[in-house]
Amino acid sequence: MTDCIFCKIALKKISAKVLYEDEVSVAFEDIHPQAPVHVLVIPKKHISKILEIEEEDNALIGHLFQVANKIAREKGIAESGFRLMVNCNSDGGQVIYHLHLHLLGGRPIGPMVCRHF
Ligand code: 5GP
Ligand code: ZN
Repeated sequence: MTDCIFCKIALKKISAKVLYEDEVSVAFEDIHPQAPVHVLVIPKKHISKILEIEEEDNALIGHLFQVANKIAREKGIAESGFRLMVNCNSDGGQVIYHLHLHLLGGRPIGPMVCRHF
């Protein structure tokens, strides 16, 4: 999608601190980190939100979790723990409408209902 900021990051039209990339996914540092580790893992395919995930995307979604695991280990937060989070629509706190996993760690992340993670 031409007007999607995360598509632009995937296409290198907007810069980001990319930690990992392969044919189908990219992981990069969140621009406003809410924790010592705050990484976004995205599919290169434009999927706007959880509700738009199709059956054919199932392997891709599983792959995003594998990428998150890899980064959690590389960042040294696998053992201490982390949170993987996906927001959907306005009540879920979604601001960018390109599916992304938030990988948060490096400190206790706190209660699940906390407004700002
Ligand atoms: P959402 O609220 O949609 O789940 O999360 C969107 C996230 O994207 C926010 O944590 C926000 O800081 C991050 N973000 C928004 N714009 C940019 C950007 O241009 N670059 C990067 N690296 N992160 C962004
Ligand atoms: Zn997009």
